[in-house]
Amino acid sequence: MDAEELEFLEAQLAATELLPCRECRQLTLHAHREVVGVRAVATELLMECTHCQAVRHWLDWNSGQLAHHQRN
Ligand SMILES: [Zn+2]
Repeated sequence: MDAEELEFLEAQLAATELLPCRECRQLTLHAHREVVGVRAVATELLMECTHCQAVRHWLDWNSGQLAHHQRN
């Protein structure tokens, strides 16, 4: 993993996303917990609901494309 890629992942971990939470049954702010895997088209993340702390998997398709652009 090169420095640019690491920087990108750290930025991802610092960000939050509005995602539907199964426990809250509504859109809640989710914090990035962990990067599970980086694929060519998407980044697989563990996201934690900031309301109930439920953790869910999330595929960030935009970040995959962004990472692809950054590499080129
Ligand atoms: Zn929740």
